Amino acid sequence: MAWIAVGVGLSLAGGLLVQVTASRNTARYAESLEAMARALEGNRTPAYLVLEGPIAGAQRRLFAAVEALLRELDALAEQRDELDAILRSMREAVVVTGSGGEVVLINGAARELFALSPEADYRGHNFVELCRDPRLQEFVARSTAASDAQMMSTELAIAHPKQGHLRVNAAPVRVAKGAAAARVLVFSDITDLKAYENVRADFVANLTHEVRTPLSALCGYAETLLRGVDDPETQHRFLDIIERQARRLARLIDDLLTLSDLERGLTPLKLEPVDPAHLLVETTELMREPAEKHGVTLSVEAAAELPQMLGDHDRLHQLMLNLLDNAIKYTPRGGRVTAVARRAEEAEAPAGVELAVSDTGEGIPAAHIPRLTERFYRVDRARSRELGGTGLGLAIVKHIVQLHRGRLKIESRVREGTTVRVFIPCEQAQSGVA
Ligand code: ADP
Repeated sequence: MAWIAVGVGLSLAGGLLVQVTASRNTARYAESLEAMARALEGNRTPAYLVLEGPIAGAQRRLFAAVEALLRELDALAEQRDELDAILRSMREAVVVTGSGGEVVLINGAARELFALSPEADYRGHNFVELCRDPRLQEFVARSTAASDAQMMSTELAIAHPKQGHLRVNAAPVRVAKGAAAARVLVFSDITDLKAYENVRADFVANLTHEVRTPLSALCGYAETLLRGVDDPETQHRFLDIIERQARRLARLIDDLLTLSDLERGLTPLKLEPVDPAHLLVETTELMREPAEKHGVTLSVEAAAELPQMLGDHDRLHQLMLNLLDNAIKYTPRGGRVTAVARRAEEAEAPAGVELAVSDTGEGIPAAHIPRLTERFYRVDRARSRELGGTGLGLAIVKHIVQLHRGRLKIESRVREGTTVRVFIPCEQAQSGVA
């Protein structure tokens, strides 16, 4: 009996020992799980607790899986940061929409383009409602409704939030099979490009027009002469016309070459000290004969002890000739043209010299003044042609002034006269210019 009692006692003690060990293990498992949960909640890698017992193997695997997942999460966070940085630095506006057209992601350039708040959270808003331009709305709605794989592109003239041109690409985002497609919409502002295309098209149209008139005159009169003209006086008149038209074409080509050279910056300025008074004297001397032919008095007024300008002598020479040529051309007989050089006294401006050409001519209506420096812009096209103008003189002047970092001002009163002022910085002010 006694050994039975001992046996029972021993087995009870053994059971108790197993129970105590089991409950101690359970407590350690609980502690380890608790530590793991806390670490995961705090986005940290959980500390690895070495345990023994039946679930130690499973726990090891669990820890390894958690570690792999955390590594993946880190990599994903890194990728997201990279994507954020790319989207932020993109000049193109990017919007990602969900299958229903709701905003999933919108970058800074898109917020700016659509005049949206830089901070507001637009996720979940319908993008069609955010871009207020009707044409854009129509395209976005169409791209959202398009079949999942279809990539759509277009160019649109928009009116909201401001007038402009956009190139839009809408591409489907690859998604899990069966799920409705999200889209990436990329908007590029091509307003400047369109404006440039228009300027180029206008330029070609204008140039064609400018060349065609003298060219058809040349062909017409040459053909007539070839067919034979008996009267020597008529012959001479026709040859005179041919010569004038040929000269006009040559002038046009010269001006075009000068302008293109200035615009493309192919020949850099040869900066050197230029004496303003000397520049006025040499250019007015060259224009004295045409002035006399026109019956216009030409005079020079140069202030004493003017500072030297820092400029390209040949370009400034050309600028003065263009201004004097205009003043003489557009001043009726008996009028006066004066070339002036004086120290520019502007409080906020760097030291410089003002070159001005004033005339007592026909003047320019105020509405035309802002456009005079555009290529081929003329107040009276027929009159400019008749006087031998190319319509490029003031465009050339503007470019020369800009290259010298100067300023150009045109003042005029109809039937009273015109003054064109050019400010050219002087030597000390431009010492840093290459
Ligand atoms: P153009 O070869 O026709 O003279 P410009 O570019 O030199 O071309 O000048 C553009 C236009 O500005 C001229 O066609 C003319 O209408 C006007 N203009 C320029 N200078 C004067 C001036 N001194 N007086 C009156 N009109 C002028």
